[in-house]
Amino acid sequence: MASASKTTAGNGTKTVTRSVGNGKQATNLPVKIRQTKMLIDGKWVDSQSGKTFETLNPSTGEVIANVAEGDKADVDKAAKAARKAFEKGPWKKMNARERGRILYKLADLVEQNKEELAKLEALDNGKPLSVAMAADLPLVIDCYRYYAGWADKIEGKTIPINGPYHCYTRHEPVGVVGQIIPWNFPLLMQAWKLGPALATGCTVILKPAEQTPLSALRIGELALEAGLPEGVLNIIPGYGETAGAAIAEHYDIDKVAFTGSTEVGKLIMQAAARTNLKRVTLELGGKSPNIVFADSDLDQAIEGSHFALFFNQGQCCCAGSRLFVEQKVHDEFVEKMVKRAKKTKVGDPFDPKTTQGPQVSQEQFDRIMSYIDAGKEGGAKLLTGGSRVGKQGYFVEPTIFGDVKDEMKIACEEIFGPVMSIIPFKDIDEVIERGNRSMYGLAAAVWTRDIGKAHRMAAELKAGTVWVNCYDVFDAAAPFGGFKMSGIGRELGEYALRNYTEIKTVTVAM
Ligand code: ADP
Repeated sequence: MASASKTTAGNGTKTVTRSVGNGKQATNLPVKIRQTKMLIDGKWVDSQSGKTFETLNPSTGEVIANVAEGDKADVDKAAKAARKAFEKGPWKKMNARERGRILYKLADLVEQNKEELAKLEALDNGKPLSVAMAADLPLVIDCYRYYAGWADKIEGKTIPINGPYHCYTRHEPVGVVGQIIPWNFPLLMQAWKLGPALATGCTVILKPAEQTPLSALRIGELALEAGLPEGVLNIIPGYGETAGAAIAEHYDIDKVAFTGSTEVGKLIMQAAARTNLKRVTLELGGKSPNIVFADSDLDQAIEGSHFALFFNQGQCCCAGSRLFVEQKVHDEFVEKMVKRAKKTKVGDPFDPKTTQGPQVSQEQFDRIMSYIDAGKEGGAKLLTGGSRVGKQGYFVEPTIFGDVKDEMKIACEEIFGPVMSIIPFKDIDEVIERGNRSMYGLAAAVWTRDIGKAHRMAAELKAGTVWVNCYDVFDAAAPFGGFKMSGIGRELGEYALRNYTEIKTVTVAM
C-alpha cells in the first residue's frame, strides 16, 4: 500500500500530504511516457535543483515516472522567459488570425494524438479510458478550436464622449499569466486555461497538479509542434506549496488563474495582495444542490442524478452532492437510485466495461473514507457501499447515504468522491432556502416538468450554473464559475476573455 508524508505549506496554513509510492516501479505501461522534464523558453529542461517527484498509478500505487520538480528558481526562470516572449517575441504582435491558426493546429494535433492523451489521463488520473475518449478529449479539442476562433475577434469599442475627441478602447493582453490547475480533469482544465490566455496574446507559466503532470507535458510538446513561439508556454510541474506558491507570489506575473480548493484559493488571493496585486481568477469548491421535484420524469432524474454525483469518481467541483428529493417520491427514488448505483462497474480504467476507476491518490482515498465514517457517526443511513474495493489502489464503492440532514458534515463539506447524500424536502420555497444555505455557489440542478417552476428555480438558486433536466452539460462557449466562495470570474465562453485582457481607453483630440 502507498503511504503518505505530510509537509506544511510555505505560504499559508494548508497542510499538504505528499503521496509516496509503494516503492514499486510500474511495468508494461499501456502508453509511452515521452516527456518528464519541464518546459521553459521552448526547451525541455531539468529542474534547477535537479530534484524529481514520483507520479503514481492510482490503480496500483506504483510509480509511473519521475518528473522534474519545479520550485521558485524554475518559476523565476519561466517568468523571465514568459516576460521576454511577451514584450519582445512575436506572439502579442503577430496577426491575430495567425495566432488563431496556431491554436487550430494545436487542436488538430490533440485530435491526432487523442488516444495517446486519453491513455495518459487514464493512467495518471485513474479515470476510465472510455470516459476520457468520450468526454475529456472531445471537450479539450473543442475548447482549443473555440478559442482559436476568438483570436482575431477581440475588439474594443468606439465611445462617443463630450467634446472634440475620438475615444476608443483597446482590449490588450494582460501580460504574463500564471495558471495553476487541479488533477481531476488535467487536460480539460489545461485547455480551459490556455485557450483564452493564448487567444488574447498572453504568455503563460502553467503548473499542473503534482498528482497528474503527464498529459500537460505532452500538450507542451504538441504546442511547440503547432508552432507556438518559444517562451509563450512554460510548464512547471511541481508541488503547490513550492512551485504553485512561487507563481502566486511572483512580482513579474501579471495575473494568476487558479482552479482547486477554496482553502488554497484564499492563499492565492492573499499572495497576490501581498505582492503585486496581480489579477486573480478562482474556480473553487462546491456543494451543489441537485433538486428533484415529484413532477419530474423520475427515471430521467435518477439517471441524471447518478451521473451528477458519480461522474469522474465523484471528483467534480460541481458534483450534485446535495441531492434534494421531494417527499412525495422520495422512497421510490431512493430505492431506484440504490439499484442504479449497484450497476456501477468499479475497476481497471483500461477495461472497457469499467465505469468507475480509482480515486486519484491515497490522500483523497483517506479523505473520502473519513467522510463515510462521519456520515455513519452523524446518524445518516448507509444505503449502499461504504467500503474500499480490492486490496491495492484507491478504489471506493459507490456509496449512498439516506436520511441526511442539512447540518450533517457530509451535507456541508465537499467530499470529492463517490458519496451521495439524499435529503428529503417538502416544497419549493423550503428547498430554495435550503439549497442556497451553503458557502458555495458553483452549480445547481432542477428536475421538473413544470416550466414555470424550472425558471423560478433557475432565477432563485445562487449558483454560477443551473442545469434544468440535465447535469454536467459543458460547452466551450458556455461560461462556468462560481457565486460566493466557489470562485471569482468565469471560465469558458466570451466571458473568459475578460480575464485575460486589460482595457485601455484612448482619447484623441480632433
Ligand atoms: P486538492 O486538495 O484537490 O489537491 P488543491 O487546491 O490543493 O486541491 O490543488 C489544486 C492545485 O493547486 C494543484 O496544482 C496544487 O499543486 C496547487 N496548490 C496547492 N497548494 C498551493 C499553494 N499553497 N499555492 C499555490 N498552489 C497550490
